[in-house]
Amino acid sequence: MNLILLGPPGAGKGTQAQLLEATRGLKQLSTGDMLRAAIAADTPIGRQAKAIMDRGDLVPDDVVIGIIADRLTQPDCAKGALFDGFPRTTAQADALDALLAGRGQKLDCVIEFAVDDGILIERITRRAAQDEAAGKPVRSDDRPDVFPNRLAKYHRDTAPLIAHYGAKGLLKSIDGMQPVEVVRAEIAAILEGL
Ligand code: ADP
Repeated sequence: MNLILLGPPGAGKGTQAQLLEATRGLKQLSTGDMLRAAIAADTPIGRQAKAIMDRGDLVPDDVVIGIIADRLTQPDCAKGALFDGFPRTTAQADALDALLAGRGQKLDCVIEFAVDDGILIERITRRAAQDEAAGKPVRSDDRPDVFPNRLAKYHRDTAPLIAHYGAKGLLKSIDGMQPVEVVRAEIAAILEGL
């Protein structure tokens, strides 16, 4: 099965992806995590991505498509994957279709996390302040001066994917402002119905 979790930054996709990975054996492919790993390892991709991510902009399509293409060839993705933070543009969505088709697979479902912008900004600002107070590192792009740009880029580049997948009949929307457990149960119900 191939599943996409779609939604704005801070909507809780990563939390649900980890729960799904644990319960469904679907491999979570988070391009954000992969890019942060590339930065930590100081690879050429990491060096290219760092300044872009710190500003809250999107990394070029060819870079993230290349990362996903590579990753999908590994054995733990043989039965499909759970895409978290990818695709973020229609070019990435088209590339994913082609990659899956090349593997004799298809996309089964896109779950959209609908979340209010004002609540997201509050959530991220609070999380950054709490982490800072606890002496924990704050993600450089979770800073209150950068986060609004990530949201703006989401609305401009990524939100069009909602209509894109809606037209293909693949979209299921859930209210991402509900408690983690409620969101988890709603996703489980969607997957049961596939
Ligand atoms: P979030 O979902 O909280 O925004 P991610 O960890 O998914 O965080 O992404 C962090 C940053 O990594 C993004 O703001 C962007 O710069 C970069 N990034 C991650 N995935 C992609 C992608 N598919 N296309 C372009 N840039 C990406």
